[in-house]
Amino acid sequence: NSPIPKQIPATLIPGDGIGPEVVEATVKVLEALGSPFSWDIQQAGVAGVTSAGDPLPAATLTSIRKNKLALKGPLTTPIGEGFRSSNVRLREEFQLYANVRPAVTIVPGRFEDIDIVLVRENIGGFYVAHEYYIPVGDDPRAVAVSTGINTREACKKIARFAFEYALKNGRKKITVVHKANILKALTGIFLEAAREIAREYEGKVQMNDMIVDACAMQLVLNPWQFDMLLCTNLFGDILSDQMAGLVGGLGMAPGANIGDDCAIFEAVHGSAPDIAGKGIANPISLLLAAGQMLDHVGHKDLALRLRTAITDTLNKDHVATGDLKGKASTREFTEAIIRRLQAA
Ligand code: ATP
Ligand code: MG
Repeated sequence: NSPIPKQIPATLIPGDGIGPEVVEATVKVLEALGSPFSWDIQQAGVAGVTSAGDPLPAATLTSIRKNKLALKGPLTTPIGEGFRSSNVRLREEFQLYANVRPAVTIVPGRFEDIDIVLVRENIGGFYVAHEYYIPVGDDPRAVAVSTGINTREACKKIARFAFEYALKNGRKKITVVHKANILKALTGIFLEAAREIAREYEGKVQMNDMIVDACAMQLVLNPWQFDMLLCTNLFGDILSDQMAGLVGGLGMAPGANIGDDCAIFEAVHGSAPDIAGKGIANPISLLLAAGQMLDHVGHKDLALRLRTAITDTLNKDHVATGDLKGKASTREFTEAIIRRLQAA
């Protein structure tokens, strides 16, 4: 165990829509917490197009490559030909093959005591979106084709990541989510690889598997049966939003994108253009992502203090943003968390 450095350089991307608002809130809270990060602010998304003519400017990529660590607000993909999702490009560029999305009940809601970690394969599957049309007659787009790619190597790698995560975090069971009855190749190979890796962890971490549609239903009927989910890219995208719904919505859902030598932390939600600029966004997703980032660099104590301050602000001070049926603005909520940190 190498000592934890006092100053950790990290790239900070404000992003689009509510991005700058939740990023500002998070930076303030981290300051009050005494976080070790020293920020290098870079643009991406529509903000990248505006400032550098590119949704993923070279300076941003260089900064992430150097720091190997980033906290990122949501990025809007500009509509139009030639723009690929900047989020997907970032995952590919830095080979961030693992997406870790925890869903934990913080506020009592429709479901109590939810505590599930979803691990999503992050650079393969249907999400690579290699798509094309086949013309028929005078219709140039008569047939649409999408291809998904899963390599055995990549499937084994994400499975190993999930089992190692389980070991390190005291998780006991991994449910592998697939559609191997229909997508026998694309998701069958994923299940096969997971089974192979699971053998190495016998007696330590259990594995079972579930077809994705059944899993969607079970997540609502009996979410407490799940400890960890291991999903292909597209299924993980969908089920992680569903899991966010179990614990209060997209404002509560953080995500870590992890590769062999780089990690980017983000909120699961998008840029929420419908509420951007109104000062009412819930910053908890990004705050929890910052918590994951603190865990990642070995500051588990700070991450715990941060999560406790969020929980106490919601449940003891009863301060919350509108999406959680509270009345606080982003700023008021942020100030309440900072008061909690200062009182602790
Ligand atoms: P994008 O195209 O960037 O994904 P979107 O239109 O899909 O944007 P999301 O950000 O995914 O929007 O949000 C979906 C809904 O959830 C919106 O109604 C939005 O207002 C709400 N929402 C998302 N994030 C938050 C948040 N942090 N606080 C409050 N409401 C949120
Ligand atoms: Mg969205």
